[in-house]
Amino acid sequence: MDRRQTIPKELRYTINDFNTQFPDDDACLEHLKEQRFPGGIAYCEKCKKERKHYRITGRPVYSCDHCGTQISPMAGTIFEHSSTSLRLWYYAMYLMASTRCGISAKQIQRETGVTYKTAWRMFRQIRSLLSEPDMQLEGSAVEMDETYYGGVRKGRGGRPMRGDKKKTPIVGIVERGGKGRVIAKATPDVSGATLLGMAREYILPKSTVFTDELPAYDGIKHVKGMGYRHHRIKHSAKVYVRGNVHTNTIEGFWSLVKRGIGGVYHQVSQKYLQSYLNEYSFRYNRRDQGNLIFTSLLKRVAELAAPHVAIDHGMKPAIAEPF
Ligand SMILES: [Zn+2]
Repeated sequence: MDRRQTIPKELRYTINDFNTQFPDDDACLEHLKEQRFPGGIAYCEKCKKERKHYRITGRPVYSCDHCGTQISPMAGTIFEHSSTSLRLWYYAMYLMASTRCGISAKQIQRETGVTYKTAWRMFRQIRSLLSEPDMQLEGSAVEMDETYYGGVRKGRGGRPMRGDKKKTPIVGIVERGGKGRVIAKATPDVSGATLLGMAREYILPKSTVFTDELPAYDGIKHVKGMGYRHHRIKHSAKVYVRGNVHTNTIEGFWSLVKRGIGGVYHQVSQKYLQSYLNEYSFRYNRRDQGNLIFTSLLKRVAELAAPHVAIDHGMKPAIAEPF
């Protein structure tokens, strides 16, 4: 999985690139403005139409060239109401996007010099950008597999003992070939209903599905209207690969997640497990973009921004007082 050495030059984004592109808060603000309002064109709530907006010197706001109503590119984003400088936010996002294994709030604290509380908050906010609820898998062959997180039992899949409530099941589906993307969900259980429900939601009709021998997958072939073909590998008989019948791809993803969580986060509560899975999936699904994952992350800020931007009609201003 270590592709560090093989990232093509055009896909590299180094700390020098970062410092050149984002030397200060103004550069970050201008970038954010362009992501949300290319060319400064934004809807003016007073004019009731799209207007060109200009930067107000010395303040992080832009003003309608017709009526003067001000908007903030930070309003409605994770940066709103934050007293941390925009450049530190960008730097924290760069850090989070640039490591394969993820970084902790502690590392953000160390690298940026903010308090732990602030670092923790930034960390949570940045991670909230990483879920992809609308993602659809493509491709005609997928591997589906379940694993467990938490507790102390070892062994393949680490199946929990009955009554062992400490383990959280995780179900993953990965595309064979194509973009090779993954979807991973922390689930309440690994019952047939849960597994087949997830298959129906993410796996294209008529796909071939590779799983292990867990009986809960029995219904895959019979999911109504989907026409799935099902191949299973008998791990219990110590058979891990039979021709193309294996689940090695998804298991590679599990080991990446587990190494990362074990090495970086140490312990993850069930509540936050899904957000960690989102983070790992986000990076995994962009592993061929080299270090340009940072660029994807910046795009997500704008994509997930709430629509409100005007700051002079009772909305709490993010950074500037209303005029
Ligand atoms: Zn206006």
